[in-house]
Amino acid sequence: MPELPEVEVVKNFLSSNFNGKRIQKTKIINKKLRYEIKSNIAKKIINLIIKKIYRKGKYLILLFENNYSLLIHLGMTGYFRVLSKEHFIKHDHLIFYFKSKLLIYNDIRKFGFIKFYKPEEVLNSSHLEKIGPEPFSKKYNFHYFKLNSNKTTNIKNLLMNQNFVAGLGNIYCSEILFDARVNPNKICKNLDNTQIKKIIRSTKKILLKAIKFGGTTIKNFAVSEEKIGYFKNELKVYGKENINCIRCSKIIKIKKIIQNGRSTFYCSNCQK
Ligand SMILES: [Zn+2]
Repeated sequence: MPELPEVEVVKNFLSSNFNGKRIQKTKIINKKLRYEIKSNIAKKIINLIIKKIYRKGKYLILLFENNYSLLIHLGMTGYFRVLSKEHFIKHDHLIFYFKSKLLIYNDIRKFGFIKFYKPEEVLNSSHLEKIGPEPFSKKYNFHYFKLNSNKTTNIKNLLMNQNFVAGLGNIYCSEILFDARVNPNKICKNLDNTQIKKIIRSTKKILLKAIKFGGTTIKNFAVSEEKIGYFKNELKVYGKENINCIRCSKIIKIKKIIQNGRSTFYCSNCQK
């Protein structure tokens, strides 16, 4: 599932291709997504020029010059591809036609969505109104963490909570906690100050590095494919069950556990 780094890479890709470009028409091929694509979406965005594309957590926002916007979530398998002429494939859902390019949203598992909002509405939508601070923002700091982490939940689940911090998912939570040497089962209120500081530092460090390497789970861009998905070679624990921990020992093996229905990978020796 795309997490913050993947969505950031998609955002950068879309920005460099479509900022300032006018949508000439749209075509719905399959409206069935997590929320159905409204059939009047074409009427609403036709002829609009994209002013800015930005990201909040795992969400993409296409802001138009008249301040209308599209909120996009990639779900589990959503991705965009860019073509110079029509060539549709299975699981294509929505096509945006620009002067010389087509932007196509494809989503095999249909957990993603694309919603239209009037000016000022999108940030107050049910999806974004409670979303936590961006990990790179100054708001995600020691005092914020301390204030909001006096809980009996474990640290993995806290980091996964989008209302606590925006954009983290399974892959990066495992990698961040490994980098910070904190056990994912640790109860939040038992974290000491040093551990909290390490988690914050590791969050920013791992995400920045992942963006630099083009994310982990991205595939199927029509262009610039050589630059994406290479953080998968940098993963230290995620997906490494029963492989020796690269940090502490040649004997200790990475464990896989299930927390809140999601897998977590960690080293029980060097994560305390
Ligand atoms: Zn270890």
